[in-house]
Amino acid sequence: MSRLVTAIFLILSFQAFSQKKIITCKTLIDGTGKTISDAAIVIENNRIISIGKKEKIPTGATVIDLGEYTVMPGFIDMHCHPLGDSDDDYQTYHLKNSSADKAMMCLKNVQGMLGAGWTSIRVPGDLDVGYAHFAVRDAINKGMFEGPRIYGAGHWISVTGGGGDLNFFSYEQNGVKVDGLVVDGVEEMRKAVRNEIKYGSDWIKLLVTGAFMTAGDNPQNVHFSKEELAVAMDEANRRDVPVMAHAHSAEGIKMSIRAGARTIEHGSFLDDEGIDLFLKNGAYLIPTLTIGKWFLEFNENSQALAKAISITKQYRPQVEAMLSKAIKAGVKVGVGTDLTGTNSEYCANEFSELVRLGMTPMQAIQAGTKVNAEALGKIKDLGTIEVDKLADIVAVKGDPIKDINELKKVKFVMKDGKVIKWDK
Ligand SMILES: [Zn+2]
Repeated sequence: MSRLVTAIFLILSFQAFSQKKIITCKTLIDGTGKTISDAAIVIENNRIISIGKKEKIPTGATVIDLGEYTVMPGFIDMHCHPLGDSDDDYQTYHLKNSSADKAMMCLKNVQGMLGAGWTSIRVPGDLDVGYAHFAVRDAINKGMFEGPRIYGAGHWISVTGGGGDLNFFSYEQNGVKVDGLVVDGVEEMRKAVRNEIKYGSDWIKLLVTGAFMTAGDNPQNVHFSKEELAVAMDEANRRDVPVMAHAHSAEGIKMSIRAGARTIEHGSFLDDEGIDLFLKNGAYLIPTLTIGKWFLEFNENSQALAKAISITKQYRPQVEAMLSKAIKAGVKVGVGTDLTGTNSEYCANEFSELVRLGMTPMQAIQAGTKVNAEALGKIKDLGTIEVDKLADIVAVKGDPIKDINELKKVKFVMKDGKVIKWDK
């Protein structure tokens, strides 16, 4: 009997022992603002258990020698729409494809993103009347497929004629089901928020103002009434579900922050009073610069995106100047691409754009790791490489502090303690 106990003990200790991994590297950017040279990160199962210098590594564990690499926390994209296909027509793709088709597209896109270093994403509603991205999220969480951690909202909640309504259809076609939940009045809003939570949303997404991409509405207009917004907040607050507000116009941004939104998406026409409100209330700004860059680089002549492209061209200098001002003032700015993930390497342009507009490379890395983890409410587990955190770790060969574009070339990805990719 005692021999059996000893044997079991030995097997168990061997298993625990064999699950230890040690990553060694030239430089560790841990996400807290610190840099450690010649670092060693010890991981047991899926958590980081110690961090020290390379020369002191314990013997016997599996060593992942990342030699000359720079190691960082896994990236977090706070705003992406993985159900979409950026090669298709934005106005009609979502109508031609079923929820199941979109789940397939989503799986492909999020796996691409994981390979490019994005170990967590937040989906602010997507192109589906169903909940395809939650099916993908749940399958990943069950271990059926590799993929990033997925958070977010099922849909974008919008007014009739707003950014979530299919405005380009004729009056006779107004029975067509649309992607967002279109609500008018406080009771419809209440029901929509309850439905979102019922079917798996851990965020509520509100289209407080008009949008760039939908036909017929104006991003400078506020769409929800104060009463509708207040009801959405009340309902979400009682369920402990945070709210993200899509807001372009200055008034929409301020109204959303005052109502208690945790993150403001886009924030295009920010004014000085808006900056003060961000600072006062601690809300996060997710400016989503990459989508504008992608519009202008690849879609200049697209009919489907004509409205978005003309607004982007007209206002980009003004939008960027205000964002630079907000960064300087100390507004908490996070990384969000607003892309579909079809071209996953392109997502890291968001880091480069933030540096172009005034962040240091270190600040930009933190915007896509620590700041986003705080905004997600997941800083206990994610966003930095520290003891007790989940082992979501990426590495690049060059030095991103010297050239932020290095983040477009992620060579190593670990999620939850498991090596997902290692291009040597
Ligand atoms: Zn979006």
